[in-house]
Amino acid sequence: MFDKPENQEKRAGETLYLVVPCYNEEAVLPETSRRLAEKLEKMEKTGLVSGKSRILFVDDGSKDKTWELIEGLHRENTKFSGLKLSRNRGHQNALLAGLMTAKQYADMVISLDADLQDDVDAIDRFVEEYYRGSDVVYGVRSSRATDTAFKRGTAQGFYKFMQALGVDIVDNHADYRLMSRRALEALSQYREVNLFLRGVVPLVGFPSAIVTYERHERFAGESKYPLKKMLAFAFDGITSFSVKPIRLITWLGVVIFLASIIMLLALLIQKLFGYTVQGWTTLMGSIWMIGGIQLLCLGIIGEYVGKIYAEVKQRPRFIIDRLLNDEE
Ligand code: UDP
Ligand code: MG
Repeated sequence: MFDKPENQEKRAGETLYLVVPCYNEEAVLPETSRRLAEKLEKMEKTGLVSGKSRILFVDDGSKDKTWELIEGLHRENTKFSGLKLSRNRGHQNALLAGLMTAKQYADMVISLDADLQDDVDAIDRFVEEYYRGSDVVYGVRSSRATDTAFKRGTAQGFYKFMQALGVDIVDNHADYRLMSRRALEALSQYREVNLFLRGVVPLVGFPSAIVTYERHERFAGESKYPLKKMLAFAFDGITSFSVKPIRLITWLGVVIFLASIIMLLALLIQKLFGYTVQGWTTLMGSIWMIGGIQLLCLGIIGEYVGKIYAEVKQRPRFIIDRLLNDEE
């Protein structure tokens, strides 16, 4: 039997789940839910998605009335679903909880922020790309005009830095993306606790596409990502994906060790010509040599630590796209 390439069929009317993580979002929920429901209804009417599609709000241990609002929405309209985490676990974990729940019911899942900074009207284009055969559709900001110069600068620097460290990450893409069920199934095999979705999703592979959109300003409430959280997030991203910082130590060790040999020669010449005080040569020589050797050793130990790190993450070693085989 041939495993028929799915992307050659014309499909429509599959089930879409919108996953929305919410942390203290009582100020935006009424408006957000109204706009998302409107969007979903339109898509159902045109037959783009099935009537079983839902909007799933994930309450990430909010301290305000967020969960009460979600309960109310669910009571009034079955289009709204809710998932409540036992406590605040942070954006990435809340998102994962929502995605893993939604994949049990949906053919495709789109994640987006509760503040609707990401343009809701891009959703149709996400779904169209999905029907065209993409398992992952990345939402990419076409401009950052509404962000402050500081946020823009730091964010762009971060993407460039990550890429320089060899991490496969999509430029200007936050967590606004569509994933098919099989892409989510593959994602669930990544069991790491320090989760950085933007880095993991490209690792999953499968055909993907990009949809660009304008980013708006948060229409109510405050950002839940203060500078401290943003820095921690960036640091997490780097240390979960790259052992290059460790390799840097090794190279630094090599450079200093080589420099120490040159230093030693220079010191010996100085000593031969009698330009030094007693003990200077031995003292300086040992400081440089020992420093270089120590850094080098640290780097080598670091390489092993990096290997252990990769092992304990137990990432899947491969994910199968399709199999052609005529055995039953
Ligand atoms: N969020 C969350 N848990 C947290 C912090 C944030 O679920 O601990 C959610 C938040 O409700 C929002 C999304 O993550 O839906 C993005 O947060 P925000 O819009 O405040 O970030 P920004 O757009 O300012 O980077
Ligand atoms: Mg936001």
